[in-house]
Amino acid sequence: MTYILVINAGSSSIKYQLIDMDNEEVQAKGLVERIGIEGSALTHTTVGKEKFVLKKNMPDHGAAMLEVMKALTDETYGAVKSMDEIQAIGHRVLHGGEKFTQPSLVNEKVLDGIREYIELGPLHNPANIKGIETCMELMPGKPNVAVFDTAFHQTMPDYAYLYGIPYEAYKDHKIRKYGFHGTSHRYIAMQIQNMLGREDLRIVTCHLGNGSSLAAVKNGKCIDTTMGLTPLEGLVMGTRSGDIDPAAIPYLMKKYNMTAEETVNYLNKKCGVLGISGVSSDFRDLEAAAKQGNDRAELALQMFTYRIKKYIGAFVAAMGGVDVIAFAGGIGENDGEVRKACLEGLEFLGVSIDEKANLSRGEADITAEGSKVKVLVVPTNEELMIARETKALAL
Ligand code: AMP
Repeated sequence: MTYILVINAGSSSIKYQLIDMDNEEVQAKGLVERIGIEGSALTHTTVGKEKFVLKKNMPDHGAAMLEVMKALTDETYGAVKSMDEIQAIGHRVLHGGEKFTQPSLVNEKVLDGIREYIELGPLHNPANIKGIETCMELMPGKPNVAVFDTAFHQTMPDYAYLYGIPYEAYKDHKIRKYGFHGTSHRYIAMQIQNMLGREDLRIVTCHLGNGSSLAAVKNGKCIDTTMGLTPLEGLVMGTRSGDIDPAAIPYLMKKYNMTAEETVNYLNKKCGVLGISGVSSDFRDLEAAAKQGNDRAELALQMFTYRIKKYIGAFVAAMGGVDVIAFAGGIGENDGEVRKACLEGLEFLGVSIDEKANLSRGEADITAEGSKVKVLVVPTNEELMIARETKALAL
């Protein structure tokens, strides 16, 4: 057994998975919610055992992590006899700026680096640091590895990642496109390379979930992506606006009498398909509403898929062609109607899908016979990717 614990710490939550890297199988997983808020709760499941739920106030990440450890080692519900059986811990970290182009074995210098980017990831990086520090304290001597959401995109060329603003803004304040979901885009691209047995591929990876982004991956390296300085740029998402004329923002602030902070919150939480439809950010609800004749739900779906199609076209141009288009994420993996709509009209690129295969859920080759471009559904697995990186660096 080679047990690796994967931690994804949010501002008031911790998601975790215990993975046996001998067979890459999940042994246990769970979630702590409402850390530091009234009504904290832990839900834990060890494979083959009954689910364990604990409702108890957990004032901070340290208290939450102690309960995670108790659950993992519990005689009835647990997965291990002692935390000593766990050999390393892998952490999802949101923002690694320009410093972290690869996952890193955590030491004080790495922690300082993650602190340096708190300004760019104000909601996530402090929680990620807390997650790491708590593990260092509660599991002394165990290696911790930080895996950054931004790292995979660090191979983008400067002409792709710079904004058309004075160069000093980049030099002095590091304002540029970073991109996110990097661990997922990397995992999807690697799965495809393994599946097809070659690396010299031009792939558009479409990670479509609550947050959505596309990446252009040429010969295994990311050359462009839709998200930017923050995850707000790019596609129309569940609740995020995606691309918007920057001059619309002060106008919105004036019209709705909002502060800068309120406006960022508005653009992140109240926009996207939720804002357009007024129905929901969940595609199951949107499709149900559209089928019942709700025009704005229909419009939201059209906007979502149109923006994706536009970016696919842009990325195909950026790569000088395309060999594979891949879909992943809660929407990408489950929603054949969205996949179909994203690709409709791209036949001129040699893209055509098999309508019957496209009805399936989960991993599938949905390429039509005769299509020049392969179209694949590749379920993403960020936790496994983090565990692989952790194993490679720490063991
Ligand atoms: P994720 O962030 O990758 O977990 O994706 C979550 C989103 O996936 C949800 O908000 C839904 O919009 C979407 N989703 C999940 N299951 C389905 C489904 N069966 N059909 C359509 N959309 C789905």
